[in-house]
Amino acid sequence: MVDDDGTRAIEVTGLRMRYGSTDVLDGVDLHVDRGEVVVLLGPNGAGKTTTIEILEGFRLPSAGQVRVMDQDPARADEEWRAGVGVVLQSWRDHGRWKVRELLDHFGSFYRPYATPQRPRPFPTAELLARVGLTEQGEQPVKTLSGGQRRRLDVAIGIVGRPQLLFLDEPTAGFDPVVRRDFHDLIHRLSDLEDTTILLTTHDLAEAEKLADRILILDRGRIVADGSADELARQVAGRTEVRWTAGGQRHVHATDDGTAFVRDLFARQGEDVADLEVRRTTLEDTYLAMVARSAEGAGPEQVELEVAR
Ligand code: ADP
Repeated sequence: MVDDDGTRAIEVTGLRMRYGSTDVLDGVDLHVDRGEVVVLLGPNGAGKTTTIEILEGFRLPSAGQVRVMDQDPARADEEWRAGVGVVLQSWRDHGRWKVRELLDHFGSFYRPYATPQRPRPFPTAELLARVGLTEQGEQPVKTLSGGQRRRLDVAIGIVGRPQLLFLDEPTAGFDPVVRRDFHDLIHRLSDLEDTTILLTTHDLAEAEKLADRILILDRGRIVADGSADELARQVAGRTEVRWTAGGQRHVHATDDGTAFVRDLFARQGEDVADLEVRRTTLEDTYLAMVARSAEGAGPEQVELEVAR
């Protein structure tokens, strides 16, 4: 059943994926709770798309336990599929269809799965407004710009009002305004529709803005799991202080920027100039964690630290 009251939307243990003689996923353990927005980060080739496609039921894993909305995605039924939305990296078909017709058409597949709690599909006019395509409703799909096209992909992903939504690099190629609108849409889906969301991105500012929790996948293992703040705490020297004194530039990394600056002024007073205080960004944290994993700290070790 899709509408039950279990807390886990996704539960994965010991997931392995082997292509030929290469282990792309080498024992992935992860979970996503219902209602959470989780961002999956990792370098190119880390296995993010492979993981998402296994969770969507589009690829069969080599080994491991995978439960998504209480079913094995490889064997899940139509009702399960109706509750899971997918926004693919690229999707090119139906160029001659008008935007509104295409959404009406896809939406009609979901009508039999409507429940009183979750009327399906999303009314097309409301959906067009949500993704900012109201004015393009009567245009053929092939006339949309790249950004509009991506927004249509998102609309197709959510037309069935999914309980769980997968998005693989949804904002690649978005301009800043469209990106901000998309972030608002994700927040609204999470807050108003209680949609569980798992998305991949290379944009760390986006991850920080959207994620309740961040997972970093590297070399086929999850090497970090926590909120952006929790992950930052794993990396030494969360705040960087820069200043000049006596004509010399200084840089110091510290956990307590305020105390350091207070002490700096007490010691050097009016000599201090050009003061800059910068908190560790998710980018700093991410780069440090991926470097740590590359140095062979071993995923177990990093995971244990993160879990503390
Ligand atoms: P990411 O999404 O993190 O960039 P992918 O899951 O796309 O990573 O790919 C992980 C690795 O698996 C890459 O080295 C890629 O070349 C390889 N790979 C992906 N799909 C296949 C496939 N169907 N056959 C063989 N190798 C594949």
